[in-house]
Amino acid sequence: MKMYMDDTAIIGGGATGLCIAYYFKKLIYYKKKDLTIIEASPDVGGLAGYTTVQGELMEKFYHHIFQTDTNIIELINELGLGNKLYWVDDYASMYDGTYKFKYAGPIDILKAPILNPYEKLRLITVLAFFIYYPGTKYLKKLTAYEWGERFLPRNVNEQIIVPLLKAKFSTYYKDIASVWLRSRFESRGKSKGKLGYMEGSFAPVFEKLKEKLIEEDVKFIFNKSVPFFPKNKIIDGKKYYKLIYTTPVPTKLSPIEYLGALSLIIELKVPLMADYWLSITDKDNPPFLVIVNQSYINKKLKNVYYLSGYYKMNSDIMKRMSQGEIESLFFTYLKKIFPKFDKSDVIKTHLFKKDYAQPIVGLDYEAKIPPFMDRYRNSRPNVLIVNMSQIFPQDRGMNYAVKLAKYFVLNNYI
Ligand SMILES: Cc1cc2nc3c(=O)[nH]c(=O)nc-3n(C[C@H](O)[C@H](O)[C@H](O)COP(=O)(O)OP(=O)(O)OC[C@H]3O[C@@H](n4cnc5c(N)ncnc54)[C@H](O)[C@@H]3O)c2cc1C
Repeated sequence: MKMYMDDTAIIGGGATGLCIAYYFKKLIYYKKKDLTIIEASPDVGGLAGYTTVQGELMEKFYHHIFQTDTNIIELINELGLGNKLYWVDDYASMYDGTYKFKYAGPIDILKAPILNPYEKLRLITVLAFFIYYPGTKYLKKLTAYEWGERFLPRNVNEQIIVPLLKAKFSTYYKDIASVWLRSRFESRGKSKGKLGYMEGSFAPVFEKLKEKLIEEDVKFIFNKSVPFFPKNKIIDGKKYYKLIYTTPVPTKLSPIEYLGALSLIIELKVPLMADYWLSITDKDNPPFLVIVNQSYINKKLKNVYYLSGYYKMNSDIMKRMSQGEIESLFFTYLKKIFPKFDKSDVIKTHLFKKDYAQPIVGLDYEAKIPPFMDRYRNSRPNVLIVNMSQIFPQDRGMNYAVKLAKYFVLNNYI
């Protein structure tokens, strides 16, 4: 069987896989390498993959960037797409089962009806210290829940911090590392109330990367799911010298656990809300945890909303419920938040689910992060792992996928 030392397959055509190939071709131009990207689905994009709604491209799961996301902003400019990037005000609100209130900044917190004046002041002071004080050593030993219990009045922890953690981590909310929460507040806080989006969605970034890679003779194989780990690195009869997995390692082979994500995109006859973002912090088991108003960020879309949440990968909603059952559950709850909502207002729906959407970042997370190669070096030479589980303490996201890919390339792992 013919095989060259430079035959490399990148498994996964999401942001990380595409960026590894892109930076390799751009920065390591003096090395010749035969690169193939093998992707299980029919196109590139991964979790940031897109669909068409009302003739406009939009992500299957809501996406925006922060002003602190310098790696992806630089990439967008490099690809000549900088003129498509625009910034809108972060208009975020919270619904706690009774009240709906804005929470994009300190002024909003001061207006929140669920906290008394002392609690509001305490929350603002503690958050400012949390975000801007550089020493995070003491935080390493604390979960976000414990941090909240220690530094915030109980009501603030229960009403604000716990629901936010639940929205992202479901029943794992008590396990999440406080350094993760800190970095989450930091990105949003330092983004100065602005969220970035692109004309025509982030799809042009992925399309441009694909186009550039094809020009550089990178091959693409779609609709091919590569097993972990193929014997002798042979995929479809071709033997590769190096395999770079940008996909999450399945939980049976890795100590890192993940949640899946589900999004139901709804197109309505009438507007639901003016806000961009509504976090559902209701303690009473809401079926979805966020409503994102895509028409706020893309004015060409009319009354288009995501109803979305993170769920255990083997839960009924991810694996067994029909689309009709999910819609019925979601619409009943939607009426609780917006009593004027009526099912007959729904023109069209689009349902998307993805496993391995969010790693669960507990206190011992750092120790579980797989290195690019060492752990597998002896048993699996030249099988490398570069995936979102290696992003910490920041929340995984497109910006950090770009950063991780660049770091991997510049440190000569490829
Ligand atoms: C609900 C939700 C909201 C989000 N919001 C934002 C946001 O606002 N801003 C932001 O920056 N980020 C956001 N993200 C995160 C962002 O989408 C991801 O961090 C980023 O897209 C990850 O890229 P990746 O290439 O590392 O992984 P993935 O996108 O998961 O790519 C991995 C690819 O590998 C493929 N694959 C998997 N298994 C195999 C196999 N066995 N063989 C071949 N191919 C395989 C998959 O199909 C996929 O295309 C969000 C994610 C979700 C789920």
